[in-house]
Amino acid sequence: MKEALKRQFENVKPGDVGIVGRPVQHSLSPAMHNAAFQTWDGVFRDKHGATPRYHLFDVNRDELNELLDGARTCAMRGLNITVPHKVAAASMVTRLDRFAARVGAINTIAATSDGWVGYNTDGTGFENAIAHKLEFDPREKKAVVLGAGGTGRLIVTKLLEMGAESVFWWNRTSEKIREAIDSKPAEYSRITAVTDDQLKSAVAGADLIVNATSVGLSDTDEMPAPGIAFQARHKVFDVIYHRQTKFLQTARAAGAHAEDGLEMLLYQGAKAFEIWTATPAPIEVMREALVKSLKKV
Ligand code: NAP
Repeated sequence: MKEALKRQFENVKPGDVGIVGRPVQHSLSPAMHNAAFQTWDGVFRDKHGATPRYHLFDVNRDELNELLDGARTCAMRGLNITVPHKVAAASMVTRLDRFAARVGAINTIAATSDGWVGYNTDGTGFENAIAHKLEFDPREKKAVVLGAGGTGRLIVTKLLEMGAESVFWWNRTSEKIREAIDSKPAEYSRITAVTDDQLKSAVAGADLIVNATSVGLSDTDEMPAPGIAFQARHKVFDVIYHRQTKFLQTARAAGAHAEDGLEMLLYQGAKAFEIWTATPAPIEVMREALVKSLKKV
């Protein structure tokens, strides 16, 4: 193992957790998980007998495999996986859970006796966020999803799994959607690819509209897609969580019920905590830590 990689394990103890990505310095996950572990009574029953600590691992694609091996050697409990390694890491684990296998990307791994098991808890995060914050059940409803990156793909997969009647899928680079649908024609039969010209009528007929693009990350960003006319009856969800995007502002100005991605972040973390500890997550403690660290960003 290279010295630089070895150094990242210096303070790691058996039973610890962390996040792997590039960049990871801005991550809110350490605050959320360290706060949760401080309240974890399972520590007394745990074989490691110490409060787990959450570490940051900044690695490139070539170092990812070695990092996962190193984490195993150190007897880490598990890891979160973030951009840009969610797809690559899925091919490096011993086993994928069912939803992660359908999405083809993971954001959480957990140690088992025969190796790492990969999960995609962003799906749980999205499911809980629309249920709790938007009070929206996608069964037999129509949704528009903007974006076909990793997050857009997992959101359409989750909406289909939750029973959405149809999903109208738009992406700036339209070929990505065609390729995705062509690769899974049976699974994606309830998805319609929409062009810029078709988006207006898809939005007009939709119940839920989701921004799953990265547009809104910067405060100068405008709307992610052309021709979106929100209505007061719309439920609107934006995966961006650290600011009120133009997308959210425009939806709220039209009287729609619109929510940001903070609850998705919270519940993906809560699910990871539950996978790592087999204990219910302290949601309120985690929410408070997230909100507090968000104020510092
Ligand atoms: P990604 O794989 O890089 O995909 C980015 C997506 O944004 C693509 O669809 C891309 O379209 C689109 N896009 C980028 N710039 C655009 C522009 N100027 N106009 C229109 N579309 C544009 O990223 P990702 O992993 O899916 O993440 C997307 C966002 O989700 C990120 O901001 C991330 O922070 C957020 N996220 C939030 C949570 C949460 O818990 N709330 C969880 C996961 C991710 P092209 O294909 O045309 O490039």
